[in-house]
Amino acid sequence: MSAELRSNFLRTQIEKDLAEGRVSELVTRFPPEPNGFLHIGHAKSITVNFGLAAQFGGRCHLRFDDTNPEKESQEFIDSIQEDVRWLGFEWSGEVRYASAYFDQLYEWALYLIEQGLAYVCDLSPTEARDYRGTLTEPGKNSPYRDRTKEENHSLFLRMRDGEFADGERVLRAKIDMASPNINLRDPILYRIRHASHHQTGDRWPIYPTYDYAHGQEDAIEGVTHSICTLEFEDHRPLYDWFITHLPVPHVPRQIEFARLNTSYTITSKRKLKQLVDEGIVAGWDDPRMPTIAGLRRRGYPAPAIRHFCEEVGTSRSDSVVDVAMLESAVRDQLNKTAPRAMCVMSPVKVVLSNLSNRLQLSVPNHPSDASFGQRDLSMGVELFIDRDDFREEANKHYKRLVLGKRVRLRGSVVIEAESCDKDEKGNVVTIYARCVTLEAGVDPEDGIKPKGVIHWVCAAQAVPAVVRRYDRLFRIPEPGRSENIIDEINPESLSIVEAAMIEPALRDAEPEQVFQFEREGYFVADRFDHTKEQPVFNLIIGLRDTWSDTHG
Ligand code: ATP
Ligand code: MG
Repeated sequence: MSAELRSNFLRTQIEKDLAEGRVSELVTRFPPEPNGFLHIGHAKSITVNFGLAAQFGGRCHLRFDDTNPEKESQEFIDSIQEDVRWLGFEWSGEVRYASAYFDQLYEWALYLIEQGLAYVCDLSPTEARDYRGTLTEPGKNSPYRDRTKEENHSLFLRMRDGEFADGERVLRAKIDMASPNINLRDPILYRIRHASHHQTGDRWPIYPTYDYAHGQEDAIEGVTHSICTLEFEDHRPLYDWFITHLPVPHVPRQIEFARLNTSYTITSKRKLKQLVDEGIVAGWDDPRMPTIAGLRRRGYPAPAIRHFCEEVGTSRSDSVVDVAMLESAVRDQLNKTAPRAMCVMSPVKVVLSNLSNRLQLSVPNHPSDASFGQRDLSMGVELFIDRDDFREEANKHYKRLVLGKRVRLRGSVVIEAESCDKDEKGNVVTIYARCVTLEAGVDPEDGIKPKGVIHWVCAAQAVPAVVRRYDRLFRIPEPGRSENIIDEINPESLSIVEAAMIEPALRDAEPEQVFQFEREGYFVADRFDHTKEQPVFNLIIGLRDTWSDTHG
């Protein structure tokens, strides 16, 4: 772990616990529910939990919090493991499952019944809501609260044996219906759900609630610091109540921190699922999605995501982080790691009148890092340049190719435009130019310097490629406040360039290989669709943050 790690209240607390001998080894866990793909908010939780374990020489478990079988699936279990590894972390030991502890949790529920601390309640969900009271009014005791231990025991066994229908009865802790903390008003421990589970099959018709299961799972695993987000702060007294009243082998401790929220982003799993189900995006790993799989496919490097999660800090107050910070972390990382290459998005042909032989050029792959080496490019009589890089006439602010004016071709010679052909609609179809110099990198002898540098590809060798230009998925900074997220979608979040022209070597790019296309931005060979026969590149991010210029 690098020295750039800042102190924060979690690190301070852990240092103290280790120094005072309250714990001898830090054990954390990342506990996703396998009911969706991980997103950027989970990346924060992952870097916190795995990062702390790494920093303090401890362990971090990956535990699937699989207590809600209806919404969970193997697809999500697989994607979550892949995403955690891709982010650069490895869990300690085997993958763990809350469901592996169902027997123990059940035993402990019987123990609570035995202690007179749990009872079977027959109130319907609506009745239970009435009995619960409100923030300002205490709740009322359930009429089933004073059942005998024997009766509770036998009813719970019958629940376990599948005798009752879903929702007919629940097992509740007997705590305090007048507590100012609603979580302590006889919370539910078990619900009846006749549902097949991806791990336990049809063994259980009852499932424990998150509140009952989570702390006990931590205790079983020897987790020392159960780090979760702030919405669980009010649940902490309940977490501690179970740990105090059950014969658990270890006392874990819950600590909360503020969730990561980024602007222009939705992280509600339900709303992300809606985008997938309604076909607004191409899937959970669509490069516009804030999912880890989406960010990966978009070409965001894992170190940049980790760096961003560290940069935003860990605190106890909720805030929204500007997504431009994440984009900037990506840009900074890629500026250092991406070799340069050339791609012409909107090709127009240039014919060089005075070039007799092909030029063989050696072009640096990185402007400031010689370790990237050089690549050979060859330039013939015909080139492609970008349509936007040529005008018949222009004022002095236009530093590209203009009739009668000069420009340097990146890594090559200086040319001067002489004339152009247009089609019947007035579009330029061919530009005729001459080479002012015939040697790369030298200045013209007559002292008239080129105005700028543009990129190009040799027409004889250029390879057509599909380029998917992605932009932010939402056009407003805080999407998802209303139910109508579809109206908040940026209509320009994807535009497809069907036939951009790339340098020949880019055809051999490996899927997920990243480049800076000079003057265009950072691009990645699509993880799934890119092939030699049909190259496909995704725009990762532009060279500069232009969002406010274009959408302001
Ligand atoms: P839900 O429980 O509603 O399905 P969730 O976002 O809490 O959604 P989990 O799978 O329970 O999803 O999350 C796993 C872990 O990631 C939890 O510890 C949770 O607190 C943490 N987490 C989720 N979203 C964020 C976020 N935006 N910032 C930081 N941590 C998060
Ligand atoms: Mg959760």
